[in-house]
Amino acid sequence: MSIEVRNLSKQFGTFAALRDVSLEVHSGELLALLGPSGSGKTTLLRVIAGLDVADAGQVLFQGEDATDQHVRERQVGFVFQHYALFRNMTIFENVAFGLRVRPKNVRPPDAEIRDRVHDLLKLVQLDWLAERYPHQLSGGQRQRIALARALAVEPKVLLLDEPFGALDAKVRKELRSWLRRLHDDMHITSVFVTHDQEEALEVADRVVVMNGGRIEQVGTPDEVYENPASPFVYEFLGNVNLFHSRLHRGRAWIDGIEVDAPEHAEAEELAATAYVRPHDIEVDRVAKDEAALAARVTHVLSVGPIVRLELIREDSKDKNPIQVEISKERFRELQLVRGDQVFIKPRRFDLFPNQIH
Ligand code: ADP
Ligand code: MG
Repeated sequence: MSIEVRNLSKQFGTFAALRDVSLEVHSGELLALLGPSGSGKTTLLRVIAGLDVADAGQVLFQGEDATDQHVRERQVGFVFQHYALFRNMTIFENVAFGLRVRPKNVRPPDAEIRDRVHDLLKLVQLDWLAERYPHQLSGGQRQRIALARALAVEPKVLLLDEPFGALDAKVRKELRSWLRRLHDDMHITSVFVTHDQEEALEVADRVVVMNGGRIEQVGTPDEVYENPASPFVYEFLGNVNLFHSRLHRGRAWIDGIEVDAPEHAEAEELAATAYVRPHDIEVDRVAKDEAALAARVTHVLSVGPIVRLELIREDSKDKNPIQVEISKERFRELQLVRGDQVFIKPRRFDLFPNQIH
């Protein structure tokens, strides 16, 4: 089932939680809504679910207008951050709940409910916990049960709001890859809210980056990480270094280094900022050409396969530290220690004209 939202806006009092949001979720995909706290992710999810009504705009399920459809008719399953399992029911009964409360004429017979619940418990690999109670389970197990319960009613769409938000880092990581595998088996259209960029990039088919009630960018994890559409996306998705720059007729000066900037052919003497990821900075012991900046190593962190360096530019007014990542192999070649002089050069960058306020 595909989902389309068209021009959704929603205010809470004078505060705009959603500003003209349009989005398509393809049938069978796992889409992440990613953004900082307060960016409107939950509001968008609730409007899609039918738990909240937007002030303007439409929600379509499989091309049909569902804007006025009640939450019950939308056939959506939810999983939220705080496990809302019923404490006084066994795990089995928790998962069976959605089926048991159906009106008699559409309720499956007991034997069928039993089979379906056991199938779901097997799917989330917790069949052996059927007779336990929620308090006897770990946080990660409870979230898997919450997912099984959401799936019991065979929803057409699965909506997950920070489902692993309350769990510790290791369990989160496990559940992340587990959710991805489960989704690959089931192919149910899913929208997954998170403020954790790593989680979104690792799990989703496509990522929607939200900021201040608007969509900043939609793309595959690779697209949004490698080609951020805005300074906000750059800064939100991973570490980035900012260099003062100047643009003029297709040329740019990044902290004095002259480079081609063909996409800014129209620029006339514009102040700009170059955004450079830590792994897109070349480091050398000697200046190979004039287009290199002298810097000094102020910090070396060599844990794991990637070595992180912190550098301070020597000849620049800009004394903000620069974060660089190089492979351990390259690090061994360079034999760097704190205090060494190096020469750096951005290998890959994006230039954004500075906003005039
Ligand atoms: P997110 O899930 O991205 O953290 P939300 O969608 O929950 O963001 O909220 C977006 C903004 O709308 C927040 O600033 C929040 O305070 C506000 N908001 C959300 N729900 C309500 C509400 N029921 N009443 C008033 N303000 C709300
Ligand atoms: Mg939220």
